[in-house]
Amino acid sequence: MSRTITVIPGDGIGPDIVESATAILDKAGCDFEYEYVDAGLTALEKTGELLPQNTLDAIERNGVTLKGPLTTPVGEGFTSINVSLRKHFSLYANVRPVLSFTGTQARYENIDIITIRENTEGMYSGLGQKVSEDGNEAEAVSKITREGAERIVRFAYETARREGRKKVTAVHKANILKSTSGLFLKVAREIAEEYPDIESTEMIVDAACMRLVMNPEEFDVIVTTNLFGDILSDLCAGLVGGLGMAPGANIGKDCAIFEAVHGSAPDIAGKNLANPTSVILASIQMLEYLGMQEQAEKITKALEDVISSGDRTTRDLGGSHGTTDFTQAVIERL
Ligand code: NAD
Repeated sequence: MSRTITVIPGDGIGPDIVESATAILDKAGCDFEYEYVDAGLTALEKTGELLPQNTLDAIERNGVTLKGPLTTPVGEGFTSINVSLRKHFSLYANVRPVLSFTGTQARYENIDIITIRENTEGMYSGLGQKVSEDGNEAEAVSKITREGAERIVRFAYETARREGRKKVTAVHKANILKSTSGLFLKVAREIAEEYPDIESTEMIVDAACMRLVMNPEEFDVIVTTNLFGDILSDLCAGLVGGLGMAPGANIGKDCAIFEAVHGSAPDIAGKNLANPTSVILASIQMLEYLGMQEQAEKITKALEDVISSGDRTTRDLGGSHGTTDFTQAVIERL
């Protein structure tokens, strides 16, 4: 029986790049049914809501969602839809793999790093946000719990084991942030002992930034708290050619949302110029999550071949073609 996936085409370039990904999934023989729902600006225009109830219901019902980028309207009263989704479905793990492709203008080759970022706690918990009446003092609360830290660190080790990876690096700032980062590090050390088959290292976040730029090949799986993970995962995307080459997954106990991590690119929307690689990589992550390894490898190989040969690549990859030509080049290899 075919499996139903919730699809949110998204705003701007979203519908074009998501269509590219679903065409590729179909050609690879994935046999999915797609339930299309709206969020973001498209939903606001149609329903008056950024995140309508039927979208939330579909995400919950089908468990797995492929999502294009969403535009959060600028102005008061609009919270980020991505943050709302993470909160609503307790999507506690943000998984951002980066992989080098030959044929890109990236500075490095042989990068294969997964950043696993805690997605619900830390500096982004939204607690205690206060600005004094005179506007001269601001504060916010960072909260780490043992439960949250255990859950994300264990998730990182389980990912490493499942993917046959060798090393997990816990990134922290426990020398200064003694309470919050201190608790995270303490828990990371405890959990590490349960996984003697995997090498465990730890690194202070500033040193990690330097080492990632100087010797990125040293890293395999990184696990860290929310703010550090947000920054490090973009740094890692930069190592392989930017956000257009980086997908992301938000994973919870019952639901998972796979997405392109770049935005809706309003400047090139509707022009058939967008590079669909990030959302194609997100759909590969989705296949791995669903245990569809064979199809995941098939698509990865086809994508690698298109990018390394420069066959019908988009402008950001140094080519001169559009989204549809690029998609066709991948499809022909499947
Ligand atoms: P952006 O990522 O949309 O665009 C930045 C630059 O990168 C632009 O020049 C754009 O043309 C280019 N670009 C992005 N994706 C590309 C692709 N696939 N192929 C080729 N070029 C690409 O960032 P922005 O302009 O700051 O944000 C635009 C909107 O997207 C905002 O409303 C923002 O809130 C939203 N956004 C959404 C998400 C998400 O849903 N995950 C993430 C970031 C930003």
